[in-house]
Amino acid sequence: IAKATGMSVEDVQALIDGLCELSLKDPLTGLANRRFLYATLDREIDRVTRAGDSALLMMLDIDHFKSINDAHGHLAGDLVLQSVARTLSACVRPMDTVARYGGEEFAVVLPSCQATFARAVAERMRRAIETTPVRISPVEQVNVTVSVGGAFALQWIRSTKQLWAERADQQLYLAKQAGRNQILHYEGPATPPSLVVQKDELA
Ligand code: GH3
Ligand code: MG
Ligand code: MG
Repeated sequence: IAKATGMSVEDVQALIDGLCELSLKDPLTGLANRRFLYATLDREIDRVTRAGDSALLMMLDIDHFKSINDAHGHLAGDLVLQSVARTLSACVRPMDTVARYGGEEFAVVLPSCQATFARAVAERMRRAIETTPVRISPVEQVNVTVSVGGAFALQWIRSTKQLWAERADQQLYLAKQAGRNQILHYEGPATPPSLVVQKDELA
């Protein structure tokens, strides 16, 4: 490419880096986009299958977001999305992924994650958002909350990214139904089915 365009190799590399970033990032929030999220889910399922440590996927959805747009306008809504994105990013480790996968829907992937740690992180996020008012004009701020649904990819549950996302989404739906501003995690069967079979075989 450098030869054909007369660009320097460094400029071509910078262009490629820029295009990669564009194709993987959500422009409004700077978070990972849906495409990046899907690649992350595939990689984690692979890792869980091979190495055995579980990974958590959380789906987060802003509560009553439509009413913020309706009351304060779409630009205020965008400021809220950017603020929520910053707050979520501040709650995780560098190895974790925070993505915006839909309008006011976010996903968080925590590799190598135990159930107690998962609960702590989810609660930290829920609380951080509840306690961080968003300034939408020099004289106005709004408070928002999120509902969270989580599901583990476990070595003994066959996972595809679709099944994994569906399980987390179901929990999110239940968290909404249960009154919003809360977390529901599906932790999966506690015992690998293979161990249950071995017990039966002993009997
Ligand atoms: P619930 O608590 O059940 O989640 O209610 P909700 O109002 O948050 O849910 P609903 O799905 O009805 O509304 C989502 C709204 O998000 C509707 C849409 O206009 C708005 N939205 C989607 N993408 C964007 C965006 O990029 N910017 C802004 N400002 N609003 C957006
Ligand atoms: Mg939604
Ligand atoms: Mg919503």
